[in-house]
Amino acid sequence: MICKLSDKQLVAGIKIKVKEEKQIIIEVLNYLEEIDKRKLFVDYGAPSLFKFCTRILKYSDAEAAIRVKTTRAIKATPIIKEKIKDGSLSLTTAASLYAFFKNNRIQNKSKLVEHVCGRSSKEVKNIFHSLSKNPPPRMFYITLPEHLLKKLEKVGQDFDDCSELEVIECLLDKYIEQRELAKAKKTSTKQSKSQRYITREVKESVDLRAQNRCEGFSPITGKRCTSRVNLQYDHLRPISLGGDSSTENIRKLCFGCNQKAAVKAIGTEKMMQRGSATLSPDVEYYLEQTDTGLQYSFIPPGK
Ligand SMILES: [Zn+2]
Repeated sequence: MICKLSDKQLVAGIKIKVKEEKQIIIEVLNYLEEIDKRKLFVDYGAPSLFKFCTRILKYSDAEAAIRVKTTRAIKATPIIKEKIKDGSLSLTTAASLYAFFKNNRIQNKSKLVEHVCGRSSKEVKNIFHSLSKNPPPRMFYITLPEHLLKKLEKVGQDFDDCSELEVIECLLDKYIEQRELAKAKKTSTKQSKSQRYITREVKESVDLRAQNRCEGFSPITGKRCTSRVNLQYDHLRPISLGGDSSTENIRKLCFGCNQKAAVKAIGTEKMMQRGSATLSPDVEYYLEQTDTGLQYSFIPPGK
């Protein structure tokens, strides 16, 4: 059908389609924003919105990164959404604004958004450079020799579908954790009085149970979270509710599951206000034995 259109009709037609395309992009970003707010990606076995975009929505890494950064940029500076909608701001520039705002303290963000609208990526880069007070992020490339690559491959088998970079991060996390443990051991006598303090023995038992993998479960797939990055010890029953620091009450959760548990417990609005994962004292929860081990769930009040 397109081949039968006149030149004028063809150009008029594509203008309409581009307008529709912009509208669809805005709708996609709205959906991502809500999924992020509810931390829904955790229920689908994804430790982050980025992983949700690549694993579930099948975006490429680059496509996912741009959409996630743009979603976050809109959250911080809503005018960005208007500019994408009217076609004056590309997703690439919106995503780079997110990174720039994160690293630089800008008084009038809206003014800068207006300023970069309609400019090429090179022009935007120059503007950022002239305004930047911070040095560019440290990035360096390393070439791994064959024998190190083989070791990485060998260790990587224990890390499911993690990338090489994630495996390296996990290993470094583990080293830092061990170093912290050694430090904590020195001061354990002083700290053991605190109920919140988790002893080395408890951490070791939890580590043994968790096998360096998040202990969160998806209520949708019933599957255990696959994340092995940024694992934190979490009190299942909060100390304020009479919980203790025993092996049974301590679980290892990734950042995403930790956030998700808090969202379930106190709701998205409160989470947005607090900006951190804390539990309200009126939360009910249960603990049950399943085929895959101990499963913990939070039940929001009144449900
Ligand atoms: Zn998790």
